[in-house]
Amino acid sequence: MRRMGLPSASTTLETLPSTGRVHVVGAGPVGLLLTALLQSMEGFSVCLYEKRHEYTRTRMVQLAPYLVAESVDSYRTDYIDGDNVDAVFDPAELHEGVAFRRSVPEDLMTLLRDWTLGFCPLNSIERAVSDLIDARVADGVQRTAAVVTAEDAMAMLNPGDILIDCTGCNSLLRDHLTTDSGEGVEGANTHKIRLEYALVITFLYGQPYDCNEYCKYYKNAENAHYKFIPMVHRTHYDGSVSHVTGIVNISAEDFEAMPARFDGTLLRSDFPSVAQSMDRFIDKIKEETPGEILGDLEIIRIPLDLYHARNATSRQWLAEGPTKHPFSTSPVFLAGDSAIGSPYFQSISLGFECAMYLAALIVQRDLPLSDMLNRYELYSYKQWLRVYMRSKMIKHNKDLFESLDDPMALLEKLHIY
Ligand SMILES: Cc1cc2nc3c(=O)[nH]c(=O)nc-3n(C[C@H](O)[C@H](O)[C@H](O)COP(=O)(O)OP(=O)(O)OC[C@H]3O[C@@H](n4cnc5c(N)ncnc54)[C@H](O)[C@@H]3O)c2cc1C
Repeated sequence: MRRMGLPSASTTLETLPSTGRVHVVGAGPVGLLLTALLQSMEGFSVCLYEKRHEYTRTRMVQLAPYLVAESVDSYRTDYIDGDNVDAVFDPAELHEGVAFRRSVPEDLMTLLRDWTLGFCPLNSIERAVSDLIDARVADGVQRTAAVVTAEDAMAMLNPGDILIDCTGCNSLLRDHLTTDSGEGVEGANTHKIRLEYALVITFLYGQPYDCNEYCKYYKNAENAHYKFIPMVHRTHYDGSVSHVTGIVNISAEDFEAMPARFDGTLLRSDFPSVAQSMDRFIDKIKEETPGEILGDLEIIRIPLDLYHARNATSRQWLAEGPTKHPFSTSPVFLAGDSAIGSPYFQSISLGFECAMYLAALIVQRDLPLSDMLNRYELYSYKQWLRVYMRSKMIKHNKDLFESLDDPMALLEKLHIY
């Protein structure tokens, strides 16, 4: 039923109505953060939809310190990222982003600060934000446990409602944001680059273990082919155990032959050459700090893809003027992995960054809607450029690293001019 005071589907929506609903589809980390940012904002009621009944993803993740930066200088301290940030963003945009952080409610900011310090299971992040949302009883969120289809999402919209798709890498609405013949065609609105196939291997070690670039080299010295490369910041000692996560580059054939998720026992029986490399690496850790692996290796095989939505909003629909299509009278945004995906453990932070920007835009009710959509498009495109450059640099460095003992192979990978 259409509510009073809202534009009908036959009038152009120029700004957001003074009150309205925000539908957030997907309560993963990014949908939850957006909900927590929007629920206290005056004039909005937030509806959150999630198909899972429990948060079960236990993989250890860490958030980037730039998320809680209190100054522009601390925002660009990452040594690969800093120059990219300066190249892509105007100083005013950086100041605006830092200023918005200051308006993030303290309860939420305290959680974010914690998650930039050490590792945390993904489901702890999800549970903590979910609990925080529920604890704010005065700003209740209407939660629906359901698998939402694209048709459901369109049907739930009154003109002027906002729809935010936070459904992750297999986004519900990404392919519905183009008005041309590609609408609804899988991949029509996605630009994707496959960087490599990889095993993400995690283990616990009963002693402190810190990694740096020398360590990566020496511990892999006899591993001619498969090299286990922990990210520099992917080891974390919590006072009793070290959590170690790293990546082994594999071929497309290896990828096809491996199950999606497995353990060290299966690795040793079915993929002995990868297992030997892992064992050599681990033996060298043990030589340094006599300790033991606690439990087994946890192994996931994934394609490492960089992608982004060419349209991260429904601006094409809005530009067509009012039609029967609900996206022509209701702004739609993609956030998190729905909009941009990146490997090398940076995606949640990027999703949070875009979510903060989006929340800051939505709260400006009198902002012309076309400006709101265009500004979010531009911002997410800049974040895409930033993560594209950072990821290509990491991949290039990894490629060179893997050829350090083979000068000819190394030279083939160097394109100096
Ligand atoms: C092995 C591994 C390790 C990783 N480590 C890190 C790391 O250290 N740091 C980092 O930043 N990132 C890491 N990532 C990536 C990170 O997990 C994702 O970037 C992040 O989960 C994306 O958050 P999201 O909220 O956008 O999407 P998701 O986490 O995918 O959440 C989407 C939510 O939407 C729900 N949903 C989907 N479709 C529907 C529907 N139709 N109806 C209702 N609900 C729906 C899903 O159930 C889910 O809850 C890792 C990924 C992998 C695979």
